[in-house]
Amino acid sequence: MSKQQTIGTVIAAHGRHYLATATIHGELHRLQCVTRGKKTNVAVGDLVKLTMTSADQAVIDAIEERKTLLYRSDQYKSKLLAANVTQLFIVVATEPSFSDDLVSRALVAAEAAGIEVRLILNKTDVEGALPRARERLQVYAKLGYPVHEVSAKTRPEETVAILQPLLAGHHSILIGQSGMGKSSLINLIVPDADIATREISEALDTGKHTTTFTRLYTIPGLGDDTAIIDSPGFQEFGLYHLTEGMLERAFRDFQPYLGGCKFYNCRHLSEPQCAVLDAVASGGIAKMRHELYGQLLHESSQTLY
Ligand code: GDP
Ligand code: ZN
Repeated sequence: MSKQQTIGTVIAAHGRHYLATATIHGELHRLQCVTRGKKTNVAVGDLVKLTMTSADQAVIDAIEERKTLLYRSDQYKSKLLAANVTQLFIVVATEPSFSDDLVSRALVAAEAAGIEVRLILNKTDVEGALPRARERLQVYAKLGYPVHEVSAKTRPEETVAILQPLLAGHHSILIGQSGMGKSSLINLIVPDADIATREISEALDTGKHTTTFTRLYTIPGLGDDTAIIDSPGFQEFGLYHLTEGMLERAFRDFQPYLGGCKFYNCRHLSEPQCAVLDAVASGGIAKMRHELYGQLLHESSQTLY
């Protein structure tokens, strides 16, 4: 008897153990999956070809072509974070103060992967800190990244009403420094997230208290083409795999100037007649952004050796 084959979506990953959902004879099944051999190149959000080995277990035979791929940073290497994400939400708050470095690195990761970005300013109820947060977010708004103001704690219904239409039809990932309110927002959007996490943790066999695995949720009221990915414990995007060409293209604000440098292979660091450096000097490009570019160039070159 030949074993049944199906296509599934990876909804959680922990080491070499994966959980996938698949529709079999019109019913949604959750399957414990392993890869063949020692391969660990599967990411949450991947569409996978599966061979069923029992009613709730399967082997991953192949990964379908990915629309997008995001990496996390792990010991100076880029490791898989999530596949097929179409939208990134960067959660920041009025307080505690957010890090521009983290926001800018997230923007670079998303641009390099071809993913849309939105910033969420949470805790807008903290009125004393609101004007400063708004002012700091201007630099991103000016680059064309939409900023949405919410308050998960004091205006939950309004917050859901703002976020739901933005989520519809997308596979979105939410990231943010701890304390910004990301969990509060996830719990508003996916009210049974905690229960789902416990079930997934058990099914993944991660050990009793492990909740720091990446997982994909569907959203009540929104269809199958909508999902939200949470990655607790996520620290930083992996940007080491980006080449110099990819880096300069990931900075939206550099694009109008890239053709204007004297040298075709200009790295925009200290070259003469560099249109990017001229734009930094005249204020067309924010100094903070150019500094990050230099830092990322340095980091990616270090990993070559
Ligand atoms: P996470 O670390 O980003 O997941 O943040 P949490 O969701 O755990 O929230 C961190 C803290 O901020 C908690 O004490 C929340 O109650 C609080 N918090 C979350 N959203 C809001 C908000 O909209 N306004 C205020 N004032 N506090 C909030
Ligand atoms: Zn240049």
